[in-house]
Amino acid sequence: MNILSLTAGAASMYCGSCLRDNALAAELIGRGHDVMLLPVYTPTLTDEPNVSKGRVFFGGVSVYLQQHVPFFRWTPAFLDKLWDSPWVINAFATGSISTDPKLLGDLTVSMLEGESGLLRREFDKLQEWLAHVGQRVLRERRADLVGLGRMVLSYPELAADVLAGRPLDRKRICRTFSDCTTAPRKGLPSGCYPLDPFYAERPEAAELKEIKQALRA
Ligand code: SF4
Repeated sequence: MNILSLTAGAASMYCGSCLRDNALAAELIGRGHDVMLLPVYTPTLTDEPNVSKGRVFFGGVSVYLQQHVPFFRWTPAFLDKLWDSPWVINAFATGSISTDPKLLGDLTVSMLEGESGLLRREFDKLQEWLAHVGQRVLRERRADLVGLGRMVLSYPELAADVLAGRPLDRKRICRTFSDCTTAPRKGLPSGCYPLDPFYAERPEAAELKEIKQALRA
């Protein structure tokens, strides 16, 4: 069985769920299953060999900065790599972590808002990573086909770039604005109006903009 398990880290604290997730993944790996244990928020701290991956998604430092300081929602990717590195997260997370509901309430709402919330960028990182997971699944012959849905509308060469090991053109990755589905529902051609210049320059682009404004009003 191939399993992707997301485990929420608790920084420098021993946490029951980290220990449980790690023990479960280690046992499944020992029984011959392919388990990818992926930490979110902070790296995990375990009392047994840690089988989680080194990469952290929804890194605690990035999440905090993007939630509270608008500037950090637009900083270059290389800075995010710095904030998301396990040693930086661990350095910031030593000591106690506030669980004040006044601070965590807004953060919870942002998480629930997903791609349309303040933490959109963190969802984007997960989305950018999925194509690489797909190529590994194919390379190891665990599936005959991996579909990336509307991502190929905004970025048709995405699969070729991943397979060739080229860096992704992040500006062309689908950000789920949903123009490609809103347009045909309103009798217009489907296409990626926000990111594909061909559709952006069509007269229907202005029409679609008006329709969306009317829907929001
Ligand atoms: S219109 Fe939006 S949802 Fe559709 S492909 Fe383009 S970015 Fe993705």
